Amino acid sequence: MSHESLAYEKTFDCVQCGYCLPACPTYLTMGKETHSPRGRIHLVKMAAEGKIPLSDLEEPIELCLGCRACERVCPTNVQYGDILDSAKHVLQQEKKKTMPNRVKMLQNFMYQKAMPKERVLNSMGTGLAVYQKSGLQKVVQKSGLMNVFPEHLSAFENILPAVEGPMKKRNRQKDYPAANKPVYKVGFFKGCIMDTMFSSINTLSMKLLQAAGCKVTMIDEQTCCGAIQHHSGETETTKELARRNIEAFEQYDFDYIVNSIGGCGAMLIEYDHLFAGDPDWKDRARAFAEKNVEISVLLNELELPLQKEIPKAVTYQPSCHMTNVQKRVHEPLQLLKQIPGIHYIEMPEKDLCCGSAGIYNLVHYDESMDILDKKMKHATMVKPEVIVTTNPGCHLQMKLGIERENAGDQMEVVHLVELLAEACNISDE
Ligand code: SF4
Ligand code: SF4
Repeated sequence: MSHESLAYEKTFDCVQCGYCLPACPTYLTMGKETHSPRGRIHLVKMAAEGKIPLSDLEEPIELCLGCRACERVCPTNVQYGDILDSAKHVLQQEKKKTMPNRVKMLQNFMYQKAMPKERVLNSMGTGLAVYQKSGLQKVVQKSGLMNVFPEHLSAFENILPAVEGPMKKRNRQKDYPAANKPVYKVGFFKGCIMDTMFSSINTLSMKLLQAAGCKVTMIDEQTCCGAIQHHSGETETTKELARRNIEAFEQYDFDYIVNSIGGCGAMLIEYDHLFAGDPDWKDRARAFAEKNVEISVLLNELELPLQKEIPKAVTYQPSCHMTNVQKRVHEPLQLLKQIPGIHYIEMPEKDLCCGSAGIYNLVHYDESMDILDKKMKHATMVKPEVIVTTNPGCHLQMKLGIERENAGDQMEVVHLVELLAEACNISDE
């Protein structure tokens, strides 16, 4: 692996104008040129030319959230995502040369064995459900035992969602027929973390699509989308997962493949980027990518039986990957505003990343909390009762933000799908 794998040609599109700087959360909170889009692009260019060692790229690239807000404001359309991915891939290959074997094994287990395997994920989910439902979680929290762990682990333990028990998940429906001739035949993409931690949101999503006139199927052959692996520079593992998903879904005659996960959706619509130079896969990847849409796109086009009033003050925290990659800005908002009784209040600078960014908040906790605190300043300013999200990572991060503000008795976080389902009197039972 060498400098040649860096997306060198693409760095020439950057004219160093600096328009992207005010949009970059890490530049705003860290205040360094090297931690801005312009600075990072320049460093990648210098490294590709051999003028600086690859090690100089490490910190600036690792501290990039991958939110891609810089792409959205760039007047010359710099493909920052491709530049970032190439740098992550090169750095990960370099790191592996000196990585201790146990770390390599742990990473391989997480990326290749745990996340893509439903059996492993189900066991983890069962363990978590037992921990929560047996009362052990309460004992651990009361005893202060979590204080012996690093701050970020105890912080995340506090905001874990209530995980569904194994029986409920095992017995759930996977086919939702349409009442009449289906408007669309939909394949539902469930996601790995989403279906472990927030499986009820997946159930509600399928029921909403059904209520809107679709025939929905959740196929067993699907696997993890590969986003976390991709953002960690594990390109080969990502491609392997992408091939499995493409093969799985192309056996069915779906009009759309739908998900309720901003981050995974962004990965799925860019599968064609992974195979750009591969004649065997590029057309199949493009066909797959084109069928993928986030749920709010279809629900906004169709009609939902919204009937129950939800008289609450609501704000919306958009996921960066929804806004900057999938470019779905209006659909979630339009849906939200259709809910009877809702009082929508816009949060200042709502498009700024919340600092979740996959596993960024776990591996760069302090930097992530600086970004989150900035976000919470804006959230508390508008005093919402509900913060709506469309991505599990943002969902957990905003819960953490509410905890940090001690505002748990005033605000809650819900997925857009949960609010829509409530307004349609749809439950996950
Ligand atoms: S990435 Fe785009 S906006 Fe940022 S400095 Fe380069 S050309 Fe300007
Ligand atoms: S992806 Fe986000 S954090 Fe990274 S350079 Fe662009 S705006 Fe900044």
